[in-house]
Amino acid sequence: MSQTTIQAVRGMNDILPDEAERWEALEDTLRSWLQGYGYRNIRTPLIEHTGLFRRAIGEATDIVEKEMYSFVDELNGESLTLRPEATASTVRAAIEHNLTYGGPQRLYYFGPMFRHERPQKGRYRQFHQVGAEALGLSGPDIDAEMLLMCARLWGDLNLEGMRLELNSLGSAEERAIYRGALVDYLRAHESSLDGDSRRRLNTNPLRVLDSKNPAIQDLIETAPRLLDYLGAASLEHFEGVQSILRDAGLRYRINARLVRGLDYYNLTVFEWVTDRLGAQGTVCAGGRYDGLFAQIGGRAMPACGWAIGIERLLGLLERPSGAAARPDAYLVNQGAEAARFAFRVAEALRDRGFSVLHHCGGGSFKSQMKKADQSGAMVAVIVGDDEARAGEASIKPLRAAREQFRVAKDAIADAIAALLYEDQGE
Ligand code: ATP
Ligand code: MG
Repeated sequence: MSQTTIQAVRGMNDILPDEAERWEALEDTLRSWLQGYGYRNIRTPLIEHTGLFRRAIGEATDIVEKEMYSFVDELNGESLTLRPEATASTVRAAIEHNLTYGGPQRLYYFGPMFRHERPQKGRYRQFHQVGAEALGLSGPDIDAEMLLMCARLWGDLNLEGMRLELNSLGSAEERAIYRGALVDYLRAHESSLDGDSRRRLNTNPLRVLDSKNPAIQDLIETAPRLLDYLGAASLEHFEGVQSILRDAGLRYRINARLVRGLDYYNLTVFEWVTDRLGAQGTVCAGGRYDGLFAQIGGRAMPACGWAIGIERLLGLLERPSGAAARPDAYLVNQGAEAARFAFRVAEALRDRGFSVLHHCGGGSFKSQMKKADQSGAMVAVIVGDDEARAGEASIKPLRAAREQFRVAKDAIADAIAALLYEDQGE
């Protein structure tokens, strides 16, 4: 009886080796870039109490309303959620371990996030983010540094066409007054709103500004602007950020409609966008969230951060042509004695730092040599019973017109080093 095959869950992707090599290369770049700004790694659980996200992200947000993977732990009845983002987790951990006790902390994370969205290009149900959080710093200097830092990454990755959109959400009090004015305006035009916006009007009116529906764009354009409701302190902070960006020659556009989907932001918010990814054009998003610590039960603490979508970032990077990892040496072995000796040869080569693909599974000398060639290795190291008895191996350069030669076991590494080195010098 045939069984139906089981496939990966919709919207959750396998990252196969060719692709995973690109991920690893990007991760290396990200790590050294983050360290260059003093950020240190934090790793929090993939699962948190559902209440953390409800409180941190806000009830009337897309994430909490309809995107969370929540389930009841049947063993103890707790409601748990696969993390949809990692700022809430980072702040929870910072409070729990009193991380900011000794002063500000610059932290970064990397890993999978889970949101139940409609899968499409650049939008998945398991996706990955790298994110940074600066905890305990309140001035505009750190907001600006985070933006300059992103600009450096785009440069390091040779990415062109990344545009910075900037806005200020002011304080909670300023937003409350603005919210009243916006609701009055939207109510006066309620008959022109779509269903989604009408619903948001009652739950989270600022998010109406975020609507992509072309039919209501004119209405949004003429809505009151949050920027006009900011007080002196908020404006000063915003100007502080901008003056550092201007000094650094970093270009940006003020987008008064940028409100971000999450509730926890205040003052500076930003997005880095590109035209090269179709509808999913936001690569990096973030801002200041001074209220979040207190919101989830900690001592008040200023903070700001951003998150980059890794799949979207990778979608922008050039694919290297056939740059699959190749071993330095492919170890061909035939015969019982040779098979045992081969393990010693392989480990000795790895001791010297070479990557070795040890042929396993037997087969004729000819078929093994064919595999050696296909592996892309620079040399084949060949051990037959004859060589094993003599404590030697034959070395055959695979990428140069050179004769095979035989050396003692202890000389194999030097012989390979000479070949690899010569090859580079050519
Ligand atoms: P969007 O408006 O595209 O839904 P968002 O505001 O929900 O984005 P954030 O929560 O700010 O996104 O996450 C930061 C970044 O993570 C996004 O700019 C994007 O690059 C990436 N991202 C968010 N959701 C997804 C997803 N479902 N699949 C892939 N990447 C995502
Ligand atoms: Mg979203």
